[in-house]
Amino acid sequence: MERVLITGAAGFLGSHLCDKFLNEGFEVIGMDNFLTGSPKNIQHLKQHSGFSFIEHDVTNFIDIDGPLDYILHFASPASPIDYLRIPIQTLKVGSLGVHNVLGLAKAKKARVLIASTSEVYGDPLVHPQTEEYYGNVNPIGPRGVYDEAKRFQEAMTMAYHNFHGISTRIVRIFNTYGPRMRLNDGRVIPAFMGQILRGEDLTVFGDGSQTRSFCYVDDQIEGIFKLLFSDYNLPVNIGNPEEISILDFAKEIIELTNGQSKIVFKDLPVNDPLQRCPDITKAKTILNWSPKVDRQTGMKKTFDYFKSLTQEELYQTNYKNFDNFIKK
Ligand code: NAD
Ligand code: UDP
Repeated sequence: MERVLITGAAGFLGSHLCDKFLNEGFEVIGMDNFLTGSPKNIQHLKQHSGFSFIEHDVTNFIDIDGPLDYILHFASPASPIDYLRIPIQTLKVGSLGVHNVLGLAKAKKARVLIASTSEVYGDPLVHPQTEEYYGNVNPIGPRGVYDEAKRFQEAMTMAYHNFHGISTRIVRIFNTYGPRMRLNDGRVIPAFMGQILRGEDLTVFGDGSQTRSFCYVDDQIEGIFKLLFSDYNLPVNIGNPEEISILDFAKEIIELTNGQSKIVFKDLPVNDPLQRCPDITKAKTILNWSPKVDRQTGMKKTFDYFKSLTQEELYQTNYKNFDNFIKK
């Protein structure tokens, strides 16, 4: 049985990756320090004989007994308010963390896949974004801690590949959503759905003309799985190219959920990318992958998940320091 280590296993994507690899017959070791993730996301795997869990901060040396065939490095705060709240940890997990992961991969002769992001393109001047675009990132803006950590992570991964000859993969993930996102993580889908469930108004930042393209989690996981087992070692965009403005998206969510909320406008956060849409030609041609789940279906499943949360979870807040993020 092949063994895979998944860092960030108690997070949104990490927990779905654990499910996928267990379903495919792998032995899975999950690792997380619960910085932004939750034990609840992996609670259902406790009894699974193929699953074990190590509570550990990957910015410290990682020690794993026995062989490893694959490592998927997904540990990192991922939402703008998270990396505003914990900027140093965000930089450390993308630098010290990836160094430890790559060192472990070298020692175990394992293949490693690194979770990168569309944020490496910053506020893009090329549209849609191809993997060849170098990006437009403000290193000292509020998003700099995340964007630069992820860019460093890619550079380090390519250096280990070129210098040490280890087998590496880099996925550039575009906005992905689905069950097990944290309702209070500030990202737009949990934010809007939480507001609807609490009977609050939907907060659209700026005039809502900025665009995003949303990928359902099952599609994302399938793309990552295919990339890991491909023989392509340069970055690949995985995301859904169906682009929508945030204002239209807010209206769509209200309609889809039969919500009674109104829309209110707030200031646009500093360096909020004005448009984002993946060019997925590489994923289509190299991986034979394209997204299958339409937004209507994915959003319904996600809303059903949020509806199942407790009242306590519905009212937990994480908005400390959030005002610093918004243009005054
Ligand atoms: P998440 O916050 O739900 O999961 C991240 C997990 O990493 C959490 O469980 C957290 O506790 C853990 N973690 C953070 N620092 C750690 C450390 N030092 N040691 C051990 N564990 C640590 O976020 P997510 O949406 O699941 O994102 C997972 C990965 O995918 C991240 O690397 C993120 O940058 C990347 N990504 C996600 C998206 C998206 O739309 N969801 C988009 C682009 C990139
Ligand atoms: N957004 C918004 N209202 C919210 C939360 C987010 O209008 O309550 C906007 C945000 O400004 C951005 C988009 O929605 O333009 C997506 O934000 P998110 O935090 O989900 O991720 P990003 O793609 O910016 O990393």
